[in-house]
Amino acid sequence: QTTTKPPPLPSPLRFSKFFQSNMRILVTGGAGFIGSHLVDKLMENEKNEVIVADNYFTGSKDNLRKWIGHPRFELIRHDVTEPLLIEVDQIYHLACPASPIFYKYNPVKTIKTNVIGTLNMLGLAKRVGARILLTSTSEVYGDPLVHPQPESYWGNVNPIGVRSCYDEGKRVAETLMFDYHRQHGIEIRIARIFNTYGPRMNIDDGRVVSNFIAQAIRDEPLTVQLPGTQTRSFCYVSDMVDGLIRLMEGENTGPINIGNPGEFTMLELAETVKELINPEVEIKTVENTPDDPRQRKPDITKAKELLGWEPKIKLRDGLPRMEEDFRQRLGVPRKKICC
Ligand code: NAD
Ligand code: UDP
Ligand code: UDP
Repeated sequence: QTTTKPPPLPSPLRFSKFFQSNMRILVTGGAGFIGSHLVDKLMENEKNEVIVADNYFTGSKDNLRKWIGHPRFELIRHDVTEPLLIEVDQIYHLACPASPIFYKYNPVKTIKTNVIGTLNMLGLAKRVGARILLTSTSEVYGDPLVHPQPESYWGNVNPIGVRSCYDEGKRVAETLMFDYHRQHGIEIRIARIFNTYGPRMNIDDGRVVSNFIAQAIRDEPLTVQLPGTQTRSFCYVSDMVDGLIRLMEGENTGPINIGNPGEFTMLELAETVKELINPEVEIKTVENTPDDPRQRKPDITKAKELLGWEPKIKLRDGLPRMEEDFRQRLGVPRKKICC
């Protein structure tokens, strides 16, 4: 018996290049905060077809409302810890809860998402020859002993703490990315994201900027966790999305820090929110959680040199934009200053 073999497919199989001119882009975690802003930006390019895979753990269809039904957009309810068989050219792999409250809620699931989820997306990238970008985190630096943090710093991470499911999970995800790159020639990009804020953040997700803004709008005290001198650097979401796309489209694997080097103590942040949003609001100190990093500030030399990227939006300009969105969602309009 004879069989006719089909002609060989090009290797690696690049779908858009072979079958069509559009670029098919998968965004895992695309129903979340950063993911949905990334989708908005990718959809602006008419050559892009965007597929979102999300299990809606911390994300919501509402964030993608305007794209549902669009011919270049597709939304799949999918958990990345399960295999995914689709055909794409690029993968932005964001799926993972980012807020400590949510990633600590089911730490075993957080590890599975980071490790098995990333493995599956790498397996997919390998099968279809797609380029894959991982959104890693400044948490890989742990409680850093080097300040500000360059990408060459290996970090100071507690492997058995309550944050480890996230920190160590992302560290393994980075390792997997580089092993697939070295062993299988997969095209990889790794972004180390520092604290990002902006419209569409989950109002009650417990992160500091969303907490302070919601509290200021609701006339509730701003809860500064002790000691209040710990620092973070906050990047506005449009700057972040711009950095991620430049990294994906550029020639460097990374890891590359993407964040805003403006550094603030949590007390300074509370004072700024009070001044800009509600000068009447009280600031109170509350207990902190274990292993809270004392300082965080990206060294963005690499992003500047290799991607031509730096953030444009200052904290004082970004906070009012986020306030606007939170007021709309909370249904609390700005108080009118009476005559
Ligand atoms: P987010 O929680 O708003 O979004 C994460 C999305 O992933 C959600 O839509 C959620 O439903 C989805 N998801 C979670 N687990 C999943 C799973 N197993 N399968 C499929 N979908 C799943 O968080 P975000 O702030 O948009 O963060 C996006 C990415 O950026 C994450 O990988 C996060 O680790 C990284 N990051 C964010 C920050 C930040 O400050 N926001 C900082 C560092 C790194
Ligand atoms: N995988 C996937 N989609 C694909 C190809 C693979 O989700 O299109 C998953 C697959 O189920 C496996 C993982 O990715 O669990 C790693 O795949 P790989 O081929 O690298 O390893 P293997 O299957 O040989 O363990
Ligand atoms: N934080 C705070 N008040 C809050 C929530 C958080 O002072 O209501 C502090 C927290 O102790 C930490 C910083 O803000 O030092 C950033 O916390 P977040 O959970 O936003 O992000 P991450 O710790 O992941 O950087």
